[in-house]
Amino acid sequence: MALVVQKYGGSSVATPEQIRDLARRIVARHEAGDQVVVVVSAMGKSTDALVRQAHELAEHPDPREMDMLVSAGERISIAMMSIAISGLRPGLAVSFTGSQIGLITDCNHGDARVLEIRGDRLRQALDEGRIAVVAGFQGVSTAREITTLGRGGSDTTAVAVAAALQADVCEIYSDVDGVYTTDPRLAPSARRLDTVDYETMLEMSAAGAKVLKDDAVEYARRLGVRIAAGSSSSGRIGTIVSSENLNRETLQSMVYYDRLRWIAFGAGVPLPPDCRLCQSVEGRTVVVVDEKHAAAMEGVPCVSLSLIGSRVAAQRERVDAVLGMLEEAGNRVLAISSTASKYEIFLEDPLPQPLVAAIHDALFTAGGQ
Ligand code: ASP
Ligand code: MG
Repeated sequence: MALVVQKYGGSSVATPEQIRDLARRIVARHEAGDQVVVVVSAMGKSTDALVRQAHELAEHPDPREMDMLVSAGERISIAMMSIAISGLRPGLAVSFTGSQIGLITDCNHGDARVLEIRGDRLRQALDEGRIAVVAGFQGVSTAREITTLGRGGSDTTAVAVAAALQADVCEIYSDVDGVYTTDPRLAPSARRLDTVDYETMLEMSAAGAKVLKDDAVEYARRLGVRIAAGSSSSGRIGTIVSSENLNRETLQSMVYYDRLRWIAFGAGVPLPPDCRLCQSVEGRTVVVVDEKHAAAMEGVPCVSLSLIGSRVAAQRERVDAVLGMLEEAGNRVLAISSTASKYEIFLEDPLPQPLVAAIHDALFTAGGQ
């Protein structure tokens, strides 16, 4: 008997039909003898809709009220999922909000950090032989206010719950069936990775890969939670993220991210937090920030292409091949940032999808590797 935490994202619980299908699979898992905790996101794009509506009411909505508002999305989906499960087996499921499971955070509304999970109600529900359905993305602050963990934060909830319960595995299901050499929607020949180590996954998430949220991977590494990433439609697991790295390739993945802004500051201007890059050039400071951290329309749009793997910058031939392809396409390099495990190229113009695919193939398919 295993203790399993499963997380289903918004696109997996977008309709009552999808919720009913998942409920069947969850009940089957329970009947096979596992203890199951389910973490769900808000249905479909309902969080986006709530954010939009708030901005129709005020230009700068109060952060406390925003958390009160957007946390309602997950409150709907946990109740729906519990109703669906208990519709199959009366009384089997019980839903909990973040505050009901004692998920305590700091007071940073909209991007709070998890401090602890008390979790006794979860343990009690499991001891009673029930399935606990937990609202992702939300908690309660040390000031007893409702908080949220940043967009995509249900992954973080799932990992934190798995750590608190010492679960055997944290299964994260989405519409992509695992972690790939690059986003398979951009490069059709992208390869699925059977295993990824925490460091590589963290670099990928931080570079903008959408499979797993970076905070969640960071918690998983720190707390030693094994993540299994799989497809919500088939229920199959494609990739295990853990401390083991069975993949001996130096270059593990490539991440293309197109939601960045670069901004140039004169001397003495306080820099924004969460800079992706910060360089001082000829008396002015150039920073690159995620567009979500840039004030409305501040800065100039730019993109990045990251090559990830240990000592990747030392792979001169590969790096030069990529730079050559970008130059041929006439795309100006704004800056390059190189660390032990990442070589990130910031570019002025967005990359057309066929070029992303061509660069991927040059790096990862036979001939390229
Ligand atoms: N519903 C939240 C969001 O859309 C949290 C999540 O999906 O994980 O950001
Ligand atoms: Mg979502």
